[in-house]
Amino acid sequence: MKAATASARERLRAQLADLKMPGALEALDDVLRQLDGAALTAPAAIEALLGAQISLRNARRLQAAVRSSRLPAIKTLADFDFTFQPSVKREQLESLHTLGFIERKENVVFLGPPGVGKTHLALSLTVAAAQSGRRVYYGTLADLIASLEEAQQAGRLAQRLKTLVFPSLLVVDEIGYLPISRTGAMLFFQLMSRRYEAATTILTSNKRFEEWGEVFGDDVMAAALIDRLVHHCHIVNIRGNSYRLRQHSELYAALQRPAAEPSGPKRRSRSQEVATA
Ligand code: ADP
Ligand code: MG
Repeated sequence: MKAATASARERLRAQLADLKMPGALEALDDVLRQLDGAALTAPAAIEALLGAQISLRNARRLQAAVRSSRLPAIKTLADFDFTFQPSVKREQLESLHTLGFIERKENVVFLGPPGVGKTHLALSLTVAAAQSGRRVYYGTLADLIASLEEAQQAGRLAQRLKTLVFPSLLVVDEIGYLPISRTGAMLFFQLMSRRYEAATTILTSNKRFEEWGEVFGDDVMAAALIDRLVHHCHIVNIRGNSYRLRQHSELYAALQRPAAEPSGPKRRSRSQEVATA
């Protein structure tokens, strides 16, 4: 028996259009065809139809977030090579990607040297949060502070703070790379105090907490900041090599190999090498 007559198909189309479900509408013919061919059970067909709509909605949410939240790139957990970075625990990251920490208004801090994937993981959490429909915002510490200073000079600080307190997830990337002015540090402290226990912040830094006093130019303020930050916090300490340099290290290792293994069964003459190449 056919899954749907031509007129039933038309009614389904009209309903999906009425409900503004273009993703499901586009998948309809294919799903019905699979139903006819008994390739899908009825529940699986409904799931496929709704799944198509959810995928489209999530893709649109992400697109909107990329535009409005200044995400510098789209990164996912699937793209993250855990074997390259064994100090990152897959279970911890997978669990974070279920986004319970955002519900609980907990923070995440990624610490480690350059190139180990701090920004990648911060962004993959942000992508997941945006796809789930949460408000997200991304900035480097330097950018966020510059925007706060600019707002303060223009007499719009309250407004700017409100904008940055509002998102359920704020990413503060690259703490420790650039020097910060005293006013800048105070403005950032204000922002973080407002977000404390109100919304989640993900921070990344190449500096250990002990060095944050130097980064913010004030030990007491840095201590107060860290105190609030780590109160409800997941700390991911990444110890490892830079992923950016991995090709170079492979190249380096390849260049080292002939010297490291000079023996082999029998050294061939140059002419043999050419002949067998
Ligand atoms: P960090 O912020 O720690 O300096 P990034 O997250 O910017 O490092 O990583 C540098 C580049 O390498 C990015 O393009 C990132 O996607 C990639 N990268 C880093 N670690 C991994 C990994 N383990 N698997 C796959 N890609 C990675
Ligand atoms: Mg980074």
